[in-house]
Amino acid sequence: MPASDKTPPARSTPVRKTGSARGPQVRPATEGWTQQKDAEGRPLLQFASPKRGKPPVHLADLTPAERVEKVKELGLPGFRAKQLSTHYFTHYTSDPAHMTDLPAAQRDELVAGMMPPLMTEVKRLETDKGDTIKFLWRLHDGALVESVLMRYPGRITLCVSSQAGCGMNCPFCATGQAGLTRNMSTAEIIEQIVRANRAIADGELGGKKANDHSMERVSNIVFMGMGEPLANYKRVMDAVRIMVAPQPDGLGMSARGITVSTVGLVPAIRKLADEDIPVTFALSLHAPDDELRDELIPVNSRWKVGEALDAAREYFDKTGRRVSIEYALIKDMNDHPWRADLLASKLNSRGRGWVHVNPIPLNPTPGSIWTASEVHVQNEFVRRLNDAGIPTTLRDTRGKEIDGACGQLVATSEDEAEAAALV
Ligand code: SAH
Repeated sequence: MPASDKTPPARSTPVRKTGSARGPQVRPATEGWTQQKDAEGRPLLQFASPKRGKPPVHLADLTPAERVEKVKELGLPGFRAKQLSTHYFTHYTSDPAHMTDLPAAQRDELVAGMMPPLMTEVKRLETDKGDTIKFLWRLHDGALVESVLMRYPGRITLCVSSQAGCGMNCPFCATGQAGLTRNMSTAEIIEQIVRANRAIADGELGGKKANDHSMERVSNIVFMGMGEPLANYKRVMDAVRIMVAPQPDGLGMSARGITVSTVGLVPAIRKLADEDIPVTFALSLHAPDDELRDELIPVNSRWKVGEALDAAREYFDKTGRRVSIEYALIKDMNDHPWRADLLASKLNSRGRGWVHVNPIPLNPTPGSIWTASEVHVQNEFVRRLNDAGIPTTLRDTRGKEIDGACGQLVATSEDEAEAAALV
C-alpha cells in the first residue's frame, strides 16, 4: 500500500489516549444480565456444541447420491428421491397429500423416512405492514430459534439462525446472553428457507402485487439470526451448498445473495475463502482498537482486530468479493470520531476498494441501558469513513418493534411457555 493512500490526519480529534480528547467513554459491561465466565473469570466462549439428541436426518442433510441410497433402503426405487427433492426444493412442501406422483400406499412412509418434521411454528409476529415477519420455531428437542423474513424493493431477504443460542457471549447481543444450546443441523438451516418460501407462495408476506406472488421466493440469505455460523462451520457450509445447488437438488440460489456474518473466527474465515463459493462475507468488528474490542467482542481475546482484518482482506483477494464490516453504533461506547478515523486508517492500510462499512445503530436488548448513538454522531461517523474513501452506509434496521432486529433474537420465557403449550 503506498503511503499516500493513508488516511489524512483527523481534522479535530486525533487518536489520543487521554480520556478528555477521546470524549465520553462508557466501559463495556453487561446490563440486566450476568455474563457467563470461564474458570479464569473471562467471558465464557463456547465453541463446541453441547451434546443433545441429534435432530432427525432429513433429505436436506444428504447429498443427491445419499438421498437415492436412503430411498432404496426404504425399499423404493432410487428415482423417487428426485421426486421428493422436487416437492421439497421446488414446491416447498413436506405434505404427502400434495405428492400425488408418488404411490399412494407408500407415500406416508416414504415422506416420514425422508422428511421427518424438523420444526414447529410457535408464533409469528409481523410489522412494516406485513413486509417483515419474525418466525419463532421449536426444534425437535424443544430448542427455540427464530428467522426474520423481510421484503425490500427488488429482493426478499431471510435472516436465518445457524445455532440455537450462541456461545460468543457479546454483551450487547440478546442471543449472546443465553449461551449456546446447540448447533443446528444442515436441514434445520435449510428448512427455515423452505418454510419462508412456502409462506411467500401462500401470499403471507405483505407488499405483494395482486396475484403475482406465485413465482416469488427468498432471494437473499443473511446468517445474522441466532448463532455464530463459523462455529458451526460444516453444517453451515453444507447448507450453503444446498442453497446454491440447482433445483431440484437444492434451492438454486445465487451465492452472491448469501451473506455469512462472523464475529471473527480467523481460521474459519481462511477456510471459507478457500471454498470456491463466492458468498458475501461480513465481519462484525464493532471497534477498531483491541482495547475496546477485547471487551465488546470476547472472541477478540483469541483473534485480534489486525488478524481479523487481515483475514477479511485475504477473503477479498481470494474471492474478489467486497467485504462488509459491521459496526453497531453504541452511544459513547464506540461511536467516537477518532474511532471512525482509526477504522478508516486500518482499512485503508490494507488497500482500497476491498471493503465497505455498514454501521448499524444499536438495537435495544432486554435490560440494557445502552442506546444507539445520536443521529448527528452516526452521521459524523459515516461521513468520516466516506471522506476517507471507504463506502459506508447505515444499515436500515428492520423488525425492532417485534424484537426481530439484529441482536434481538432470543427466546423469552413467554416464548418457552407458548412452545411448551404445543407439546
Ligand atoms: N454471530 C454472527 C451473526 C450475529 S447477528 C456475527 O457476530 O456476525 C448479526 C449482526 O448483528 C452482528 O454484526 C452482530 O454483532 C450485530 N448485533 C448484535 N447485537 C446487536 C444489537 N443489539 N444491535 C445491533 N446489532 C447487533
